[in-house]
Amino acid sequence: MNKAEAAALSKIRSRKLDNELKVEALLAVLRQDDQFASAENERDTIGFKIAKMRYQKKDLGNLNADYERAKKLMTERLCQLGHQPEELTPAYACDLCKDSGFVDGKLCDCVKTLAYQLLKDNCKTLLTDMDDFEAIDDTIIPEADRERYRISAVILGRFADKFPHNKSNILMLSGKQGTGKTYLMSVLANAIMKKRMGVLFYNSVQLNEIFLRYHLAPIEEKENLFAPLVEADFLVIDDLGAENLIKNVTETYLYAVLVLRESKLTGITTNMSPTHLLERYGHRIASRLCAKNNSYIIHFEGADLRFHKK
Ligand SMILES: [Zn+2]
Repeated sequence: MNKAEAAALSKIRSRKLDNELKVEALLAVLRQDDQFASAENERDTIGFKIAKMRYQKKDLGNLNADYERAKKLMTERLCQLGHQPEELTPAYACDLCKDSGFVDGKLCDCVKTLAYQLLKDNCKTLLTDMDDFEAIDDTIIPEADRERYRISAVILGRFADKFPHNKSNILMLSGKQGTGKTYLMSVLANAIMKKRMGVLFYNSVQLNEIFLRYHLAPIEEKENLFAPLVEADFLVIDDLGAENLIKNVTETYLYAVLVLRESKLTGITTNMSPTHLLERYGHRIASRLCAKNNSYIIHFEGADLRFHKK
């Protein structure tokens, strides 16, 4: 179970506990009524007798009928007091696991679904909810670019399948505006969240703001700002190069993010070529972004389709 699933499970369990407490609270009120309390008491006494005699393998006689009668009395009194019998059964959101989170020792689908939902709530900057590369409608892409786009979608689909065991730790989509880079990266982000892994997706301008806030923050607040960038299973920096370079901030913290995320996948979309990246960010950052063995770069420009591993 990963972090997102654990968070979902704890939410489901606390919801279960809330519902059980609601039933307990209602019972506490009902037990103030003498008739209800004695009917309940009788039901429990007979229930206990039944269990005991079953254990001793003795004949139950009329005990089962007595038990049903006591139960009926309890229900009747409950209704007279203005309640419904269902109110005494905790409401479960999931019938499969009764909100325990497990079915036959395996994590229930309700936990997976909620984990995906929680991750998505935490990442609201995406262009689309699409999480399936095969279902992408590419007719919005100019015909000349469509083939390149389709091949890119297939490659990103493989990145999603292999995640988090990708060979590269940088996935860069580079090329002009309007080629669908951000959209494809958003689909990848969703596909990864579907695997219940945490994603952060920032435009470079937003990221730069976080860097600046971090730079100016009092020391005790710094950790909260920076840690999520490092801890996210997948971080996307969209439109790298669109941000204003802030001295002692942009390059310093961008480099730190790249270094600290060495073992995790970071997605980059940019209009800039590797040469432009080098001119803008210097050798230290450019070589991390375009490192031979760690970066997978897809160019969305040029006459030929060049998908090469750099
Ligand atoms: Zn369930």
